[in-house]
Amino acid sequence: MSRSYYIAGNWKMHKTRAEAAELAKALVSQLKDGKHKYLVAPAFTSLETVAAVVKGTNIRLGAQNMAAEEQGAHTGEVSVLQLKDLGVQTVILGHSERRHVYKEDDELVNKKVKLALRHGLEVILCVGETLEERDAGKAESVCETQTVKGLLGVAAGDLARVVIAYEPVWAIGTGKTATPEDADAIHAYIRKVVGKLYGEDAARKIIIQYGGSVKPDNAAQLMAKENIDGALVGGAALKADSFVPIAKFA
Ligand code: PEP
Repeated sequence: MSRSYYIAGNWKMHKTRAEAAELAKALVSQLKDGKHKYLVAPAFTSLETVAAVVKGTNIRLGAQNMAAEEQGAHTGEVSVLQLKDLGVQTVILGHSERRHVYKEDDELVNKKVKLALRHGLEVILCVGETLEERDAGKAESVCETQTVKGLLGVAAGDLARVVIAYEPVWAIGTGKTATPEDADAIHAYIRKVVGKLYGEDAARKIIIQYGGSVKPDNAAQLMAKENIDGALVGGAALKADSFVPIAKFA
């Protein structure tokens, strides 16, 4: 496979600055000989601290969200300009918690995707169906809609800075993982959707991560699948002891 593996850790609303620095330092030392692409996404409050630790290493710095506007009267929001100022290289957008808890819709996510790309950031665009949607046979169509609407207006030349994360909502933080076969089938479908939008070559190149209760003991089976190019890890990303074996899956 010509695509490289990309393992990302989403630390969500966890860790003080001291705790974040400690984890980042452990990852820097334990992943320095890692062969894949790596990212950590701490909470906004720890970005500056973690930036200082990962600078110049093989671990990228990510944010978990950003505002849809560049700046202005948006109390409580964080701007792309502020993220870049801290050294953020990547932003996770459309995470299921943003979509389902904070009611972000495809239009808002798309606005953020375009703004992040315009400012040179890499984007991890999350898509995924709820259990209800899966049971109704709509997993593919939900992922297709979120992919198509999320990428609306994104130029082909910017697609190299887009990663898609397939995260079935029912598998996030629940301990339930999609079987490697089920996940691979959706990844293949998303790749086909990207192909319809941007052509075969773009579809072959785009990195599609899987997210949803990825752990040290299921990472290798998931990564072995043809269309699974990495992982977006939540719970298991909070400790070096669980993130490192995922990041170094054999
Ligand atoms: C996530 O939130 O992106 C995620 C996949 O979480 P978890 O690994 O805990 O299921």
